[in-house]
Amino acid sequence: LGKALNSALKKLARSRTVDEATIKEVVRDIQRALIQADVNVRLVLQLTKTIEKRALEEEPPAGVSKKEHIIQIVYEELTKFLGKEAKPLEIKEKPTVLLTVGIQGSGKTTSVAKLARHLQKRGYKVGVVCSDTWRPGAYYQLKQLLEPYGIEVAGDPEEKDAVKLAREGVKYFREKGVDVIIVDSAGRHKEEKGLIEEMRQISEAIKPHEVILVIDGTIGQQAYNQALAFKEATPIGSIIVTKLDGSAKGGGALSAVAATGAPIKFIGVGERIDDLEAFDPKRFVSRLLGMGDIEGLLEKLEELQKQQEFKEEDLEKFLKGKFNLKDMYAQLEAMQKMGPLKQILQMIPGLGYSLPDDAVKVGEEKLKRYRVIMDSMTEEELEHPEIINYSRIKRIARGSGTSTAEVRELLNQYNQMKKMFKSMDKRKLAKMAKKF
Ligand code: GDP
Ligand code: MG
Repeated sequence: LGKALNSALKKLARSRTVDEATIKEVVRDIQRALIQADVNVRLVLQLTKTIEKRALEEEPPAGVSKKEHIIQIVYEELTKFLGKEAKPLEIKEKPTVLLTVGIQGSGKTTSVAKLARHLQKRGYKVGVVCSDTWRPGAYYQLKQLLEPYGIEVAGDPEEKDAVKLAREGVKYFREKGVDVIIVDSAGRHKEEKGLIEEMRQISEAIKPHEVILVIDGTIGQQAYNQALAFKEATPIGSIIVTKLDGSAKGGGALSAVAATGAPIKFIGVGERIDDLEAFDPKRFVSRLLGMGDIEGLLEKLEELQKQQEFKEEDLEKFLKGKFNLKDMYAQLEAMQKMGPLKQILQMIPGLGYSLPDDAVKVGEEKLKRYRVIMDSMTEEELEHPEIINYSRIKRIARGSGTSTAEVRELLNQYNQMKKMFKSMDKRKLAKMAKKF
């Protein structure tokens, strides 16, 4: 799918003029690419109609060429098509109980192990319950996957009552005092009805905070009915789409699930325990489209957008003294390429701030390290870095495979930037904010 979309956009990039015929051709290429990826035809027509309409009617914003604008439209519409915003998994209560369901072979057990590891990396103590009475090896499969990481698995290969297994496993980990309990189920039913009945029974016994449906990404469009049936059976739900590594039908499955409005929170991209990604439609589409020339273009558009966002939102944040690690990362990333902050500050005559370069600029390598470190932080830590104490630093270093010194360096950078914003003259900044 990525390749076909990419070549459609490349063709556009190469064309001399952009007229109605060019736009129609690009739209047709995109249609073909999506249909080949097993995306539902009706959805494809809807999507491409919107793209065509926007491409024909909208004027490109300042600093953006017609071609670039069309690519931007394609990017935006594809992103919307896959569910718009990323919806991260939240752990609010302790313990949070998660129940996974899904047809046998969809990748549930593998995903449970991946998710357990994902949460452990973020500092949560996780317990996993096996309630699969169907496959004799299920309990050992989980143990084998998780014991190397010191994650405990509760279950009993001799027990035949799945509901009892789930109830007792959850009770066991509650008493043990873990943060998150993940229950793996059998999902032996070949049709949704049986599957949902099992989910209902286990659900009643353990009252999960969230039921997670695992869907095999290689089934393409059929994912729509599976996701819909599930969504109708339960108000709380999120979805993991697995096996998106190298599947030609991945686009079909993802768009089908997104069409139900059920939030896709993770995707499985391989068989290893680390092959789980938090699903972010924006990132996914940029990767889909983002090769070679297109990548640079998307980056430029993204930067333009970021600059715009920076002007409005971030400045307001700075003025209110709110500035967290996520903001810092976005700023460092933007500045690495274009230096908008410096530019903005220099545009104000008489403001007289000369920014220390090392406070706002870091190298690409360092930025990558920062990303790895921040990947092992919880949402709370990213939003309120002041809570990161020594034991958290140790945990983050361990989770990210970095050192406590590196984590401290990131925090130092953050404090430095924060102090800098604090020291600026708020009135002058406000005046400058008005200019944008
Ligand atoms: P379950 O029956 O739903 O518990 O499914 P399993 O977790 O046992 O997985 C079934 C098969 O799918 C196994 O061979 C897994 O290795 C494989 N699998 C699961 N997730 C992925 C994935 O994201 N990518 C790939 N390539 N294989 C996966
Ligand atoms: Mg299983």
